[in-house]
Amino acid sequence: MSSPTVTISQRGAERVLSGHVWIYRADVLDAGEAGPGDIVRLQDRREQFWGQALYSSKSQIALRLLTRDERPFDGAFLAERIAMAASLRQQVAGEAQAYRLVSAEGDLLPSLIIDRYGPCFVVQTLTQGMDRLKPQIVEILQRTFSPRSILERNDVAVRGLEGLPEQKGTLAGDDISEVEIEENGLRFIFDLMGGQKTGGFLDQRENRLAARQYAHGRALDCFSYTGGFALHLAGKCGSVLGVDSSPEALNLARRSQRLNGLTNLEWKEANCFDFLKAADLEKQRYDTIVLDPPAFARQKSKLEAAWRGYKELNLRALKMLNPGGFLITCSCSHHVSEADFLEVVAAAALDAHRTVTVVERRTQSRDHPILLTVPETHYLKCLILRAV
Ligand code: SAH
Repeated sequence: MSSPTVTISQRGAERVLSGHVWIYRADVLDAGEAGPGDIVRLQDRREQFWGQALYSSKSQIALRLLTRDERPFDGAFLAERIAMAASLRQQVAGEAQAYRLVSAEGDLLPSLIIDRYGPCFVVQTLTQGMDRLKPQIVEILQRTFSPRSILERNDVAVRGLEGLPEQKGTLAGDDISEVEIEENGLRFIFDLMGGQKTGGFLDQRENRLAARQYAHGRALDCFSYTGGFALHLAGKCGSVLGVDSSPEALNLARRSQRLNGLTNLEWKEANCFDFLKAADLEKQRYDTIVLDPPAFARQKSKLEAAWRGYKELNLRALKMLNPGGFLITCSCSHHVSEADFLEVVAAAALDAHRTVTVVERRTQSRDHPILLTVPETHYLKCLILRAV
């Protein structure tokens, strides 16, 4: 069966030439016979071949490029891509029990996320095309890794843009939700079915380790989730306070704390904006502060609000840092570039009357690869700053 052909504009072809993998609907001249989620051949008006892509009948991102090759994108091709992703993880996450096995566009498998938590795999298929490949993906994972369980966490709003339902459940193997995972020598409980994202924020694994290096004194972990940073800091600090608005997350944090026999941690359920404002007014002081808020700018239209959010958080945190203290500050909005983020943090430092050195400029863990020509894949910024 030959795949349908989609004709793209000159600008669409230029996107491909520029190394990007998304082509917008405005650059589709003729979708031909393409149906929702089909793997299609791309051609331009002069019938020149441009590659093969996943077609979406709904999203503004109409096409996601799979390959520039003529070779059919079949099960064997898909398995090779997953194997290629797995081989990078052996190099960059060899020691980790939990890591991102497949990071969508970053692994040339657009809109596919596979997170591994030891024997359990959690899958997200976020477009019509990738959703249709789900049975093949499950089969490849079973064949390659013999997992105890494969879950789907497709309960994410972006699926709505594709006209796909939000759903979660077990795709293969045991119905398990909680797993105990070691990270950087600490034990953590993750709730794969009930937690945020796929259960954990694996993109911060290397940053949590980096933060530990500088941690000292009295520490504060804002947007703590299940205590990822907080537990890392605890071994080096006198005391650590983890703050988050989610009681479920804090319950897991408490359980992981007990698992590690740590006694110098406390947890507070609060809105971090309110908490920081109050702590600043009370003239609280800390030696180590982590700020890891959720993405404030999910859309470009939210950039201004995001800027204000980052400014306020970083201003308050910098005001409360003791001399020689460290701020580990993060942004996971891909619309906010590293340059923008440095600018907003600099504005916060000026307002806080603090002199600050940039000790490290970091990004997402290496199991979340950045595709050089797709800026959206570089989404996480993590600055480690020292206040004079
Ligand atoms: N630092 C964590 C990940 C943080 S994810 C880790 O390393 O695992 C962002 C967290 O912010 C989520 O746990 C979410 O519950 C929390 N959150 C979102 N908005 C918040 C707010 N206004 N105040 C406090 N917590 C918030």
